[in-house]
Amino acid sequence: MEELRIPGPTPCPPEVLKAMAKQMINHRSEEFEGMMEAVTANLKRLFQTKNDVFLLTGSGTGGLEAVVVNTLSPGDKVLALSSGAFGERFITITQKFGADVVPLRFDWGKPVDVEAVRQALKTEAKIKAVMVTHNETSTGVTNDLAAISSLVKEYDKLLLVDAISSLGSIDLPVDKWNCDVVVTASQKGWMVPPGMAMLSVSQAAWKAHAVAKMPRFYWDFTQAKKYQDKQQTPWTPAVSVVFALSVALEMMLKEGLPNIIARHARVGRAARSGVKSLGLSLLADEDYASNTVTAVNSPAGVDSEKLLEVLREEHHIELAEGQAHLVGKIFRIGHLGWVTEKDIEKVIKALKVALPKLGFVGAAV
Ligand SMILES: *Cc1c(COP(=O)(O)O)cnc(C)c1O
Repeated sequence: MEELRIPGPTPCPPEVLKAMAKQMINHRSEEFEGMMEAVTANLKRLFQTKNDVFLLTGSGTGGLEAVVVNTLSPGDKVLALSSGAFGERFITITQKFGADVVPLRFDWGKPVDVEAVRQALKTEAKIKAVMVTHNETSTGVTNDLAAISSLVKEYDKLLLVDAISSLGSIDLPVDKWNCDVVVTASQKGWMVPPGMAMLSVSQAAWKAHAVAKMPRFYWDFTQAKKYQDKQQTPWTPAVSVVFALSVALEMMLKEGLPNIIARHARVGRAARSGVKSLGLSLLADEDYASNTVTAVNSPAGVDSEKLLEVLREEHHIELAEGQAHLVGKIFRIGHLGWVTEKDIEKVIKALKVALPKLGFVGAAV
C-alpha cells in the first residue's frame, strides 16, 4: 500500500472507507437527519464552539468562497494576511467578488508578524474584516492565531479564518479565540475523503451576513441555516462523505481532542528532528513550524521532483512538491489525520536511502 504523506487528501482508516461503500439513503429521511444531528454536534465539540456549524458539499476552496460571499459586500475593505499560496488564494477569491483587499504579505516560510498587523489596523481606516490562514500548508507555518485574534477583536473587526489544514489537528478553540468564520475540509486532518467543507459562523458573522451583498446562491448561509434547523442541507450533500465523516468523528472523539493535538505535536516533532538528522534544513523556523505539514528545503544539487519520484517508485511513499515559486526548492511531508510517529520513521528511513542516490552527501551524516 502506498504511504500517502501529502497535506490532503490524507489516508482514511478502514472503518471510514467501509462507510463510504454504504448504499445511498434519502437525504430528506429521518435516517439522514439523525446522522446530521450527530455529525453537527460532534463537529461543534471538535471546533470547540457553540456557534452554528455547517457542512457544505465542496472542497476547502469552496468553503473559502462561502466565507467571502456570505460576510462581505463589493467595496468592503479587508485586511488579508498572507505568507503563502493559500493566503494568496483567499486574497484572489475576495478580489474576484469585488472587495477592496489590503494585502499584508510576509515572506514565504515566515509567520504573520502580529506587530505589523497592529500597525495596519491602526493606520488603515474602515477595515471591515481581517482574513488569515491559520496553518499555511504551502510553507509549513502555523500562525499565532491566539495573538492575531485578540488584536483583531481589540479593533473590533470580523475575523475570517482558513483553518483547512489545522482544525481537528492543531489546537484552535474557535469560541475562546473569537473567530467569526472558520473553515476546514474533510480530506485534511479529518481522515475522510475529499468532498466536504465544514465551517462555523459566529453571531458577529451572522450580523455581517445580514448586510452582505456579494452574489451567492449555492453557498448561502441563510439557506444552510434554514435547512439545518431540520437537520438537512439545502442541496443534495455528498452523502457518502457524510457517512464517512460520521464514523471519523466518532473515532476522533474516542481518541479525544487533547490526545489528537498531542499526537500531531509528537508527529510534527518527529518529522522535523528526522529531516534535520539527515542533514536537511526546514523552510520554517521551528518556533512556528506546523504540526500538520513539514516543508523541507531541497538540498543544493538535488532535484526535488526526482527525489519524490524515487520515493514513490522505490519506497511507495508519496510526498508533496513545493507550490508556486517554491516548486523545486522545497518538498513537503504531510502528517495530519490518521498518522503516527511510525509513519514518519518510514519516511525518514526512505529519505536516508534515496538522498545519496541523488548525490546528496550530507545524508550519510
Ligand atoms: C488544502 C487547503 C486549501 C484548499 O482546499 P481544497 O480542498 O484543495 O480546495 C485551502 N487552504 C489551506 C490552508 C489548505 O491546506
